[in-house]
Amino acid sequence: MNQRVLSERARRVIPGGVNSGQRSVPGLTDLVIAHAEGARIRDADGREYVDYHAAFGPPLLGHNDPDVAEAVAAAGRSLDLAGVGVTQGEIELAETLAELVPGIEKSLLTSTGSEATFHALRVARAATGRRLVVKFQGCYHGWHDSVSLNVISAPDRVGARDPISTGILPEVLEATLVLPFNSAEAVRRAFAEHGADIAAAIVEPVPHNVGCLLPEPEFLRTLREECTKAGSVLVFDEVITGFRHALGGWQQISGVTPDLTTLGKAIANGYPVGALGGRADLMDLFSSRPGGPAFFAGTYNGHPAVVAAALATVRKLRAEPVHEHVFALGARIREGLTAIFDGLGVPAVVAGYGSVFVAYFMTGPARTYTDLLRNDAEMFIGYRRRLLGHGVFELPLNLKRSHVSYAHTGADVDHLLEAAEQAARAQL
Ligand code: PLP
Repeated sequence: MNQRVLSERARRVIPGGVNSGQRSVPGLTDLVIAHAEGARIRDADGREYVDYHAAFGPPLLGHNDPDVAEAVAAAGRSLDLAGVGVTQGEIELAETLAELVPGIEKSLLTSTGSEATFHALRVARAATGRRLVVKFQGCYHGWHDSVSLNVISAPDRVGARDPISTGILPEVLEATLVLPFNSAEAVRRAFAEHGADIAAAIVEPVPHNVGCLLPEPEFLRTLREECTKAGSVLVFDEVITGFRHALGGWQQISGVTPDLTTLGKAIANGYPVGALGGRADLMDLFSSRPGGPAFFAGTYNGHPAVVAAALATVRKLRAEPVHEHVFALGARIREGLTAIFDGLGVPAVVAGYGSVFVAYFMTGPARTYTDLLRNDAEMFIGYRRRLLGHGVFELPLNLKRSHVSYAHTGADVDHLLEAAEQAARAQL
């Protein structure tokens, strides 16, 4: 059955025709994906793309990695879900996270990143007895109410509360303070004014939900100092950066250790797992009893198949030169794109880190969300739509980042750069 017929069927029975907010892309509303393997995805009409969207980030090893797939199948043959006690796999995964991630002593598993950030804020409020949460403009931490605001905001909404959904209680939104990323000064001011009421500050240490803003060392250090002084809980949301940039996450790279860490996406290479870990005294507030200091539960938490996927992913990341490979390809892409845009006189800033890259169509620095308001969204999307015509998939939505995986090759990068040159020429 062809894509058009299938997507019409989807729209009849699935609101908007897709199962997650940003899977429906203007101009690509009929997309039905039939197959994903290695660096490639194929639609239901048989059209193949080299995939740099990477499902918003999980398949660091590439789609359908054979070692991960085999581990999942083997787990499924032995145990689906008992829902009582613990499994050896869950113990090994918690031991692995404690070994790898500087800020993690103990951890709990969820099925998604949103559940992990939800519980991080719950336990921070339980520990401190305080109301307020600090987040930063441009950061995304999932769909739940306390953090569902100020991600990609229109220029006139920056500096005000900008919910991404209706249906959220105003008092919940009011309990979240939104600050500009990379402003140590704004952090100092907010803590001077509200420190005694701040339960937690949550931050993507690299805000990849708007492409890539690299944190200035002073910013993360100041956030750490102010949280410590005020007795607030610092949460690094490493759902994207965890395992992708380093096995110990951005906290390993920056040397700034949070109190709590959330993980997801790349830790299981595409299988649905999230994790919340951190200081043992905080994590121990979670009790499996209702009415315990903080309640934590989930029917599918620690599902043997996804735990097997995470353990297989981490084994491969440790045994093979995955980071070397994706960092080298990422650097080649960023350098190649910069040379192409410079050569053609296209105003562009190519940003990223390691395996992540993004070309903003603007000039000047990309330090804060406000800087990104200079990005020409029409050009950003138009360029990516043209790449699709060359069989290169970078999500044609404003400010979205792209990723390379262990399955991408030097030839894939050559192809991307040729396609980029043609797409950029067509923009002129
Ligand atoms: N935190 C960050 C930094 C994310 O990018 C995301 C998802 O994109 C989440 C949390 C939420 O994770 P999930 O979509 O698995 O609920």
